[in-house]
Amino acid sequence: MAEVLVLADSADGKVKKATLELLTAARSLGEPSAVVVGASGTAASLKDQLAEYGAAKVYIAESDDIAGHSVAPKATALAAVAAQASPVAILLSSSAENKEIAARLAVKLDSGLIYDAVDLDGTSATQQIFGASITVRAKVTKGTPIITMRPNSFAPEQSTAAAEEVPVPVELSDGDTAARIADTVVEEKGSRPQLADASVVVSGGRGIGKAENFDIIEKLADSLGAAVGASRAVVDAGWVDHQMQVGQTGVTVSPQLYVAVGISGAIQHRAGMQTSKTIVAINKDPEAPIFEIADFGVVGDLFDVAPQLTEEITKRRA
Ligand SMILES: Cc1cc2nc3c(=O)[nH]c(=O)nc-3n(C[C@H](O)[C@H](O)[C@H](O)COP(=O)(O)OP(=O)(O)OC[C@H]3O[C@@H](n4cnc5c(N)ncnc54)[C@H](O)[C@@H]3O)c2cc1C
Repeated sequence: MAEVLVLADSADGKVKKATLELLTAARSLGEPSAVVVGASGTAASLKDQLAEYGAAKVYIAESDDIAGHSVAPKATALAAVAAQASPVAILLSSSAENKEIAARLAVKLDSGLIYDAVDLDGTSATQQIFGASITVRAKVTKGTPIITMRPNSFAPEQSTAAAEEVPVPVELSDGDTAARIADTVVEEKGSRPQLADASVVVSGGRGIGKAENFDIIEKLADSLGAAVGASRAVVDAGWVDHQMQVGQTGVTVSPQLYVAVGISGAIQHRAGMQTSKTIVAINKDPEAPIFEIADFGVVGDLFDVAPQLTEEITKRRA
């Protein structure tokens, strides 16, 4: 059966959910194989999980040289696996790092590349472009299709496979190791999920009025086990950090559920959340543009609605 390569992303010794989604999606194209690129010993902790989600093979490109450098060695390693496996497609999740790896890989393989796909039909990919105002279907016409998929585009489904280990020797060029990672600072994060790949996101907008009120958004998010986002108006006001901004000039999210609280739904905000599966909006203005794309809308004062919602959800989940 045709082989489909999936670059395995991991954190804290666990395969990231976005990779499990890709292994699931890859089954519609052929037989998924995971590619683990990293420092020595990286694959050992990931293998069982990759097997659980359908990886027939796990290509292991491990070297401490790879870990000490930025994206270039990973592209080289992935190209080495592609040369060995002749896959029908190569899938990566759409993180900033992976998009750069994908671009370098496309040059190395002389192949076409599709970014930020949200669906696959064979090797045809669906993308939302121009601030998600237009949906296009794109297909690579040259080389091996390299496709980066937005997190949450597929629901991960288990399907046990052998995960046969295949070591891949990687030779790095001087160019690959020219840039060295000098220091790594681990971002402080609480118990909430990461915004970019969370399956539920609750975002607050200027409607919250002031920074001190943002805890209304956080409490609602915590009742749902959600990540917390914000509109640019909230970020520009200095009420929350820029990392939380959803939209054209912030993070793009595509969760199963997006709750927009006190957000008008400007085109630049919509560009970053429009592909969410279910959108719920709470806004006191019935004419707010967010209601044009909302699946469920509550016209009301967020200071009444959000705390009641939090209370009810907390009660039901207890
Ligand atoms: C180049 C460019 C890039 C941009 N990039 C982004 C981006 O990445 N992300 C982004 O978000 N924006 C972005 N913007 C800004 C964008 O155009 C909007 O200005 C911004 O999204 C508005 O944020 P908001 O919806 O929170 O505020 P507003 O538009 O002021 O909306 C506030 C909403 O809250 C409602 N409200 C007020 N009080 C209550 C209440 N008590 N209860 C319920 N509802 C209430 C109001 O009815 C209103 O609809 C960008 C703009 C430009 C020009």
